[in-house]
Amino acid sequence: MAKKRIYEIAKELGITSRELLRLLKELGMEDLRAVSTVSEEDASAIKELLAEQVGKKGAVAAPSPKEAVAVEEKPTEAVAEKPEAEAEGKRGVPRPPVVAVLGHIDHGKTTLLDAIRKTNVAEREAGGITQSIGAYQVEYNGRLITFIDTPGHRAFTAMRARGAKVTDIAILVVAADDGVMAQTVEAINHIKAAKVPMIVAINKIDKPNANPDRVRQQLAELGFAPEEWGGDTIMVPISALKGEGIDELLEMILLVADLQDLRADPNGELEAWVIESNLDPKRGPLATVIVKNGTLRVQDVIVVGTAWGRVRALLDYQGKRIKEALPGTPAQVLGLNDVPQPGERVERVKNPREAERIVSERLEALKKPPERRRPSIEELLAAQEKKKLKLVLKAASVGALEAAQLELGTIQFDEVDIEIIHAGVGPINESDILLAAAVEEGEPLVVGFGVKVDPKAKKAIEQYGVPVRTYDVIYDLIKDIETAGKRLIGPKYLEEKVGEAEVLKTFKISGVGVVAGCRVTSGKVIRGGKVKVIRKGEEVFTGEIASLKHYTQDVQEMKEGQECGIRIKDFDKVKPGDILEVYEVKVIQPV
Ligand code: GDP
Repeated sequence: MAKKRIYEIAKELGITSRELLRLLKELGMEDLRAVSTVSEEDASAIKELLAEQVGKKGAVAAPSPKEAVAVEEKPTEAVAEKPEAEAEGKRGVPRPPVVAVLGHIDHGKTTLLDAIRKTNVAEREAGGITQSIGAYQVEYNGRLITFIDTPGHRAFTAMRARGAKVTDIAILVVAADDGVMAQTVEAINHIKAAKVPMIVAINKIDKPNANPDRVRQQLAELGFAPEEWGGDTIMVPISALKGEGIDELLEMILLVADLQDLRADPNGELEAWVIESNLDPKRGPLATVIVKNGTLRVQDVIVVGTAWGRVRALLDYQGKRIKEALPGTPAQVLGLNDVPQPGERVERVKNPREAERIVSERLEALKKPPERRRPSIEELLAAQEKKKLKLVLKAASVGALEAAQLELGTIQFDEVDIEIIHAGVGPINESDILLAAAVEEGEPLVVGFGVKVDPKAKKAIEQYGVPVRTYDVIYDLIKDIETAGKRLIGPKYLEEKVGEAEVLKTFKISGVGVVAGCRVTSGKVIRGGKVKVIRKGEEVFTGEIASLKHYTQDVQEMKEGQECGIRIKDFDKVKPGDILEVYEVKVIQPV
């Protein structure tokens, strides 16, 4: 039977997701929110009811062409492509969304996380705030939401740079009195790069100089028009300090979670990530993990990076012992033999022996020179899709930044896209490096124009091996980006025939192989050149000249009329009478 997603109904009615929610609530149908799809018939019935309500109120803003929340469309399509049965059945049960809070310093991230925490009934009953393990859960309308309580985009992207996919929804906090600031833009770019849906919390609306509309305007100018203006971005005015608007924010989180259709299989393969870790003097290494799929249990044998252990105990965010951690749930793990890094994946293995084997292999691998984490240029070339150069651009002033962006905009390659994933004013900082390190598709490059690299960033550069360049002259910057682009396209090779030789005799030299005694009949032959072996007019082998000798002397080239010994790499079947055509391979686009 055909199904319809709840938000599609909103779209058809020309109302925003938020208005849909409000109307459902007014009709006493808020339970529907927990359901992400309904049957076609139910959809029609709901639509009729809502349409009536919309008509009655007349309060609904004029429909806009872009009602659907942009970020919601992707997962929706992905799900829609799957067969019904798979979408409904095999994908497991709904799981709590994992939410991160980002924004400019002092805009109220910590206050918001505290305010949300206070809404937690269970915690109030438990008697106050417990020590944080790095994440907590609240129950809202009978459903759980998990919050990572280390706010800020550095922590957010540091985890991604290590490969972790933890966050499902990002809350961008913008203070209504201060408006969009440098770190707000940074945070937006980090959220965009992570491809997670964003909800804006316009904070501090209690302040007399609060100007929420200015925030809406500023964000709209950055391409994030609010839903209430016909845009795609959900924005909720709040006062974290007074606890106003928190309920609506939580509702929006659940709404976005529904639209993403977050599911997990508690019986499936374990997917869990470390979000925080430390060494406790009494309890040993502690790691807070968030389970995204499967179930983590006490007694499980786990490997995390180069640490391993049998889970001795699991503690929930209130410090209570639990036997198992289900999908969406944060838990503190006791029993590891070492402190793992945030962002590392938790893997379950069969037994301690296997854990030890994996860890010792990893430790061994660490001793070797680091392998390139990124694909080689050859691999990039082999890839079908267009290659991407992803730039983080920093400049000394807004003027300099705009000039650099303008110049960069003029560079065009057929085979490479240049994308500026973040542009900002100020020195190259740690967060710039992390953002580049977390690039998944494409090659990252951090460039500074008239700015320096700050000390923390230097450390991160060492750790993540991200290419960073700084320039004082814009022309040099542009030239280098052009070169980097060309490097991605790769050099083009041109073969040029330089001469021919005839094989007179062959010699088998033990330990070396077969050497052909030749006379150069035209042009020249060169060591390292490409060679084609022609026998009776047919090409029988193509390879490379491995060695070229004049008597016993190694030589670089031999000219027409001279005699020489040629050994062809990986080819011992050369025969007298064969003609060797020799080619020089030229790089026509030096990099
Ligand atoms: P963070 O740096 O983003 O974590 O910001 P904080 O949560 O530490 O808040 C910075 C300051 O703003 C603190 O003094 C808070 O009390 C204050 N603040 C946070 N939220 C609000 C709010 O909604 N209204 C008002 N008036 N002040 C707030």
